Amino acid sequence: MNFKELNLIEPILRAIDKEGYTEPTPIQEEAIPVLLEGKDVLASAQTGTGKTAAFAIPLLQLLNKQGSTQKEKKIQALILTPTRELATQIMESFRAYGQFVSIRTVVIFGGVSQKAQVDSLSRGVDILVATPGRLLDLIGQKIIDLSFVKYLILDEADRMLDMGFAKDVAKVIGFVPKQRQTMLFSATMPQDIVKLANSVLKNPIRIQITPVETTVEAIKQKIYFAIKKNKTRLLIHLLNEKPYPSVLVFARTKHGANKISKELRANHVQSMEIHGNKSQGARTEALSLFKTRQVRVLVATDIAARGLDIEELALVVNYDMPEVPETYIHRIGRTGRAGLGGLAISFVSDEELHLLKAIEKHIGMQIGQVKAHPYHEDFTASTFVPTKPVVKPNMTVMKNRSNPSKKKPNYNRPKTNRPKQSKDN
Ligand code: AMP
Repeated sequence: MNFKELNLIEPILRAIDKEGYTEPTPIQEEAIPVLLEGKDVLASAQTGTGKTAAFAIPLLQLLNKQGSTQKEKKIQALILTPTRELATQIMESFRAYGQFVSIRTVVIFGGVSQKAQVDSLSRGVDILVATPGRLLDLIGQKIIDLSFVKYLILDEADRMLDMGFAKDVAKVIGFVPKQRQTMLFSATMPQDIVKLANSVLKNPIRIQITPVETTVEAIKQKIYFAIKKNKTRLLIHLLNEKPYPSVLVFARTKHGANKISKELRANHVQSMEIHGNKSQGARTEALSLFKTRQVRVLVATDIAARGLDIEELALVVNYDMPEVPETYIHRIGRTGRAGLGGLAISFVSDEELHLLKAIEKHIGMQIGQVKAHPYHEDFTASTFVPTKPVVKPNMTVMKNRSNPSKKKPNYNRPKTNRPKQSKDN
């Protein structure tokens, strides 16, 4: 299918073409016609599936149609999203797809002075992209009026609830007219999201995009076992070994992110960090330098990295293993975007073996390990427990044959029995 078959108007088709998109992604193929028909949508789709364009394109077309009757620019569409970074990316997408129509998109988020945002709002807004806190703040100050909103989009709804925005989201919805078209996007559909969906959507069309695990299969994944104190040296070794252009490194804590980044710089690797303690200005600068390839490595915590849209990310490194298996999928999904292949490397220390096991169980596959690296010996020395296998060999074979995905990883196999493994390529 191509975009023309979706009955899009010429100025939007031109903008899509300029972006270099040749065909719609599955979520776009499904959501665009439904939204153009004016129906509510409940979509399970994670970042990286093209979900932003799936709502931005039809919204621009719907608003453009009504444009001639709308003399004064009042907020007609509201997109609520959890983080500042996501809000900025959504605004940029609206501006890109809407560059040949005269529709104004404004973004507001907390953590920065409200002055520039208020000035921007005063020049008129068709589409407002907002995080819940700042939005309520400006509604309270009577700077923002949502009583003309016809389209409401709740983006990354599960994340908004996880971040404690449930009450704020409910309050915002209370300011939006009941007569409207609503779209709810969420990577996961836990019970509280279903409840929210039931309360805000009217006879929604349900769209479910390929389970997360399928996306994961497209990404090459590798494990490097290393004791904690060797991890930075291992990272530097990997960065020196291959000229990966853009590398996103995940750290568990803000302090950890600072430390890794500092050590990389001390070893002549351009690196910046992005986390909740950084000012909005510093975060935007780091992201922009990383996106324009002026900085090779970005070290991030999960919250700061959530939803970051960075094209052609060569490598994602889990410096620290995530505590929650779902987070692993979100992290590695930063590479291999929109069908592009990618590489995700995880550093696993002794203390993190249980996290690796939980992840492998969750994704239903065993992740291949790379042993040909300078720090593997230290790890095997620290964890080696020579246990005799208790399962008869042919029993194992039967088990694996009947269900290969359930094969259990065996980390403590004696070194001499291990098959030779080539270097990561
Ligand atoms: P999203 O899921 O909205 O975060 O989008 C992920 C990435 O896919 C972004 O970099 C988009 O620019 C890109 N993208 C969205 N739609 C398409 C498409 N139809 N063809 C190619 N890339 C796309």
